[in-house]
Amino acid sequence: MILVSACLAGCHCRYDGSSRGLSWIEEWVAQGRAIPVCPEQLGGLPTPRPPAQIVGGEGGDVLDGRAKVLTQEGKDVSESFVRGAEEALHFARMVGASAAVLKQRSPSCGCGAIYDGTFTGNMRPGRGVTAALLERHGIPVYSEEDESGGVFGTEDS
Ligand code: SF4
Repeated sequence: MILVSACLAGCHCRYDGSSRGLSWIEEWVAQGRAIPVCPEQLGGLPTPRPPAQIVGGEGGDVLDGRAKVLTQEGKDVSESFVRGAEEALHFARMVGASAAVLKQRSPSCGCGAIYDGTFTGNMRPGRGVTAALLERHGIPVYSEEDESGGVFGTEDS
C-alpha cells in the first residue's frame, strides 16, 4: 500500500481549496493500491486556510523544535503541522504503507524542495514536516514529480 497526498488524489484540500489530482494516483486509489491523506487537515487546520511556510529550517527541524511553520501573517501553526504528520504516520502504519508519494514543495508533504520561508516564491532543498517524519520511521518518500524520472513509470494527465 502506498500513502499519497490527498490533493494528488483529487481531494480539494489545498490551502486555497483546490486540488492537484493526477490520473495515475487517482487510479492507484481506485484500485486499492494507495490511501490518500491530507496531513494539514488531519492536524486540525481548516480548508481554505492561510498559506504557511517553514521558517528557519526544514521539516526535520520543525519536528525537533529548531524551526517553525508560520503563516504569512506570522501565526505559528507548527503544532498543527506536527500533529498532522503524526496522524499521517498513524495511517501509514495502519495500512502497512511501503512508501509514500507526496506533493512537492508543500510545508507538509514536500520531499526535496520546499518554499524557503520568505513567501517570495523562492525554493530551498528540504522536506516538509510529514515527509520528514515518515522518513524517520523508515517509510521512503517520493514526490509526484519523481515519476518523470522513471521511478513509477506512469504518466501525468
Ligand atoms: Fe496536499 Fe499535503 Fe497540502 Fe494536504 S498537506 S493539501 S495533502 S500537499
